[in-house]
Amino acid sequence: MNYGVIVIGGGPAGLKAACSAAEKGLKVLIIEREARLGGILKQCVHDGFGVIRFGEKLTGPEYAYRDVSEVKRLGIEYLTGTFVTDIYAKEGGYVVETTSAKGLRSDFSEKIVLATGCRERTPRQVNIHGTRPAGVLTAGACQNFVNLKGLLPGKRVVILGSGDIGLIMARRLTLEGAKVIGVYEAKPSPSGLQRNIRQCLDDFGIPLHLQTTVTDVYGQKRVEAVRVSRVDEAMNPVGEGEIVECDLLVVSVGLIPENELAEKLGLTLDPATKGIAVDQYMMSAEKEGVYAVGNALHVHDLVDYVSEGAALAGEDAARDRKRNPVKVDVSGPAYVVPQYIDVSAIGEKTVFYLRSPREMARAKLMLYADGELVAEKRFRNVKPPEMIRASFKFTAEDSVTLRLEEDV
Ligand SMILES: Cc1cc2nc3c(=O)[nH]c(=O)nc-3n(C[C@H](O)[C@H](O)[C@H](O)COP(=O)(O)OP(=O)(O)OC[C@H]3O[C@@H](n4cnc5c(N)ncnc54)[C@H](O)[C@@H]3O)c2cc1C
Repeated sequence: MNYGVIVIGGGPAGLKAACSAAEKGLKVLIIEREARLGGILKQCVHDGFGVIRFGEKLTGPEYAYRDVSEVKRLGIEYLTGTFVTDIYAKEGGYVVETTSAKGLRSDFSEKIVLATGCRERTPRQVNIHGTRPAGVLTAGACQNFVNLKGLLPGKRVVILGSGDIGLIMARRLTLEGAKVIGVYEAKPSPSGLQRNIRQCLDDFGIPLHLQTTVTDVYGQKRVEAVRVSRVDEAMNPVGEGEIVECDLLVVSVGLIPENELAEKLGLTLDPATKGIAVDQYMMSAEKEGVYAVGNALHVHDLVDYVSEGAALAGEDAARDRKRNPVKVDVSGPAYVVPQYIDVSAIGEKTVFYLRSPREMARAKLMLYADGELVAEKRFRNVKPPEMIRASFKFTAEDSVTLRLEEDV
């Protein structure tokens, strides 16, 4: 079949991009490998989603339901239980190969939206020594067991890493009757949002141990204990540490954008975001007609901004533009998305998403167009785990520069 745009991934990013493209008149196909649309939100049963986009606190499934309903209302075609195995460029567009219980299928599309989300870093990626017994899970796998399968994977729990999913699982496991002994974080400050520290740990009396990590796992068939040790500034364990008895170790040590399909298309990944480099409409700077949105582009902390960026991509897929992408010169932030600005198509507003490399009580973001300072924004309490969103109205012809500095 031929489509105007094929969206790969049926999470909130893919759903919003699909709806925006369909509203602009494109023939759209969504391809999702799981049995149902909704992405990771299906298992996020706590509330707090949609405050910015809808002005109300929704659960993950409620948030996803709104987009899925819109997909159905717009009559957008979608395939579930269908995995994209290959993608390649062919004159005028891209061929997408899939496999499902119905067999192999091949579709052609002028434009492609990569909305494949992210995956979790595994315990093996953080150098924990010892045996490999049952009872060591990533936070997402633990969330899946508890929220979708109704299973409690442990009763005495140690959580390694203070990422948002780990914090949320500390509260969830406590509510389900497990004893969460503590959350251990190697860095000097927590990796998750401040609101999650308050609502998931402080409100439940769960201790957070900073500059502490799990160095060893003990147990043959099942986890029996872990060794936790303090770490120095270079993150190396110091001293002998202590043994903590537990039957479940939950690891929440970061998310990595899922980009095998982008790599198949020959696109290079930005070393800072681990996603592709895009312009302000989320189109690849290297390959025309390929977009990346949501956590496949960079890991977001709020789904509302996932949907915001995806809407831009969907709308843009429906228009033809002559491109003149200029690389944004960046100084200060750990990363900035978009990495390029198509200066021939700067619209009403241009949104930048960035992260600070360190905590700052006050920060100043400055935007220069063609060498001239055109806008400044000030932020309070800037922290690496909390993404900064800055929207500007400006024009440029040759150069765009973004600087983030401490505002003294
Ligand atoms: C385990 C986990 C738990 C999370 N919990 C929270 C939370 O509690 N609160 C919060 O604010 N944020 C949470 N997040 C962040 C959350 O991922 C984002 O807010 C948002 O859901 C990202 O949307 P997305 O559409 O980019 O990705 P996802 O929601 O991950 O959707 C991507 C979709 O692409 C599909 N896909 C991938 N590859 C293929 C392929 N080759 N073929 C077909 N389909 C494919 C996947 O099956 C998936 O449905 C969590 C993330 C993870 C990984």
